[in-house]
Amino acid sequence: MSRFSFRAFPLRWKMTLAALTPLMFILLLVAIAGAWMINAWVVEKAQQQIRNDLNAAREVFKNEQSRIDDVVRFTAHSRGVTDAIGQSTGTVISEELRQVRDREGLDFLSLIDINGRSLSSATGAATFPFLSQPSFIKKAFAGESFSGTVLFEARELLRESPDLARKARILLNPESDSDSEETRGILLISTTPIIDLDGEVTGCLYGGVLLNNNLAMVDRIRDIIYGFDGGSATIFLGRTRAATTIRLKSGERAIGTSVSDEVANAVLEHGEAWIARARVVDEWYLTAYEPILDPLGQPIGALYVGLLEAPFSVLKQRASLLLLGLLTLGCSSGYLFAHHIARRIAQPIVELEDSARRLADGERDVPLPEADDDEIGHLTCSFKSMTAALQSNEEELNLLNRNLERKVIERTSELEAKSLELMRTQQELLRAEKLAAIGELASGVAHEINNPAAIIRGNIELVLAQLAVGHPAREEAEEALKQTERVSRITRNMLAFAREQTINPEQVLVNKIIEEVMAQVSHHEPLQDVEIEMELKSDVPLIRGDSERLKQVFTNIVVNALQAMNGQGRLKIVSRVEGSNVEIRFEDSGPGITEELQQKIFNPFFTTKASGTGLGLSVSYGIIKALRGSVSVQSQLGLGSCFSICLPIK
Ligand code: ADP
Repeated sequence: MSRFSFRAFPLRWKMTLAALTPLMFILLLVAIAGAWMINAWVVEKAQQQIRNDLNAAREVFKNEQSRIDDVVRFTAHSRGVTDAIGQSTGTVISEELRQVRDREGLDFLSLIDINGRSLSSATGAATFPFLSQPSFIKKAFAGESFSGTVLFEARELLRESPDLARKARILLNPESDSDSEETRGILLISTTPIIDLDGEVTGCLYGGVLLNNNLAMVDRIRDIIYGFDGGSATIFLGRTRAATTIRLKSGERAIGTSVSDEVANAVLEHGEAWIARARVVDEWYLTAYEPILDPLGQPIGALYVGLLEAPFSVLKQRASLLLLGLLTLGCSSGYLFAHHIARRIAQPIVELEDSARRLADGERDVPLPEADDDEIGHLTCSFKSMTAALQSNEEELNLLNRNLERKVIERTSELEAKSLELMRTQQELLRAEKLAAIGELASGVAHEINNPAAIIRGNIELVLAQLAVGHPAREEAEEALKQTERVSRITRNMLAFAREQTINPEQVLVNKIIEEVMAQVSHHEPLQDVEIEMELKSDVPLIRGDSERLKQVFTNIVVNALQAMNGQGRLKIVSRVEGSNVEIRFEDSGPGITEELQQKIFNPFFTTKASGTGLGLSVSYGIIKALRGSVSVQSQLGLGSCFSICLPIK
């Protein structure tokens, strides 16, 4: 398995990476900062929104309060009320007030005289003894109107009406088995003094709306702020939800449930507004609480609005996606741009590398990339000059090589020629030594045979002289004489061979000697069936030689040729100048000589003829050598032989 190696990366990738790394780093920072900013922006926007919503809810709340104020104030100035105070006709006014209350959607509307006696109750039971007068009544009796939120204990509610007390009841923690109840009530209340013509306070009219279980109120707040859905609104009595649009899992309104300790602590204990994320039932909301204060400024409950967080999460997601898209776009275009530039930078290097490889593979005249005026361009220029230097060095080297090869060939052939010459010299030396030994032996043998042969010959001649012509013994005697002549011829030849070839140097004309030899030979040998061809060049110069010896040599060769052809055939004799020599060739159409015999024919006493001595060629060889010439034979079986003699001109 190949191991990942950064070094094996192509250059353009490394450069792309180098360019991309800081870009990626910056983009990462931008991404982090962007995400943080989006989050902050969305949170800010959401908080702004929830604040606005809380303000709107408060306005709805205030509007309701104003409406109650208007109803109470308007009713207080009605003729019926002033009359009722003046005449104390409580029953009559109770019917009128009930009508107003029902028409205006108030939960209670009561009239009391300056003594705290109710003028609107048929029973007249609801009275406010002076000491137990709530502050808003005291204010009214002091001639001031009052408008605000108040907390009524159960008995106070009961004092107004049993219906009000019943309507205010809230079952606490409805999802648990507990049956504890909240019996207090939180109310929007408005009081106004009733003043007679003398400017004296004669009583007070007060009325209001119970907020406990007041779904119409919270639904209105929610509908005004959020439309049908998407948010929630709640009015708290203490920490208990007195009216809310939030529903439990069962589908019931979450009335009777409590707010968390944290919120209760901030809003109810410290009277502060509270804005935070919160999980309400099973969805995340952005929630805002603000305390509802009683006339003494004490928190008695809270107003709550909750905004579903989902749209803000979607907004955040969209903004994040947009950012991500932009970053991806930036990243991809950065990559493309960096890759393009890296490619452009690396291109000449890639081309240079390719050229270097082709050069290394032995290719020449490899094209090199265009050189710009930068480092790579300088590298290309250096590479160009290096290539040129390399090429010229190589050419020089090739030339030297060729010269060397030629010289080696020359020297080798010289050496071969020298060693051939050496071999030939060695062979000749060997042959000379052998000839000398044979010559010595031959001369000894010849001398030993010569004397007895001369005595035998003399005796046979004596016997022949005494034998009459026609004597039967005469034929044998004549044959014996012939054989003794042969013996003496052999010994003569042996002595001639053994004798040191004495040369009498003189100026000789080779062509003339050849003609004389041919004339002599024709006397002894039958030539009528032999075609003689003479090709004696006229430019053959005079050379230093020994005419007698040369005659002897030429005769030997010609007689051998005629004998080989057995009197029939063709003999061509050529003389010509060959370099610094005169060459004489004798070409016959005889049977030819085998390669094996060619090695032996110049040896003394080698003959293939029954009456041959085997000394002709060896003597001729000795003579030619003494004349500083050379003799050789070429032959092809069945075609003939050619004896060639070379004699130096100088
Ligand atoms: P001889 O003639 O007495 O045999 P040489 O020395 O003159 O002695 O010749 C040696 C041998 O060389 C001959 O016996 C013959 O076999 C051979 N020879 C010489 N010349 C020729 C030729 N022209 N053709 C064929 N054989 C030849």
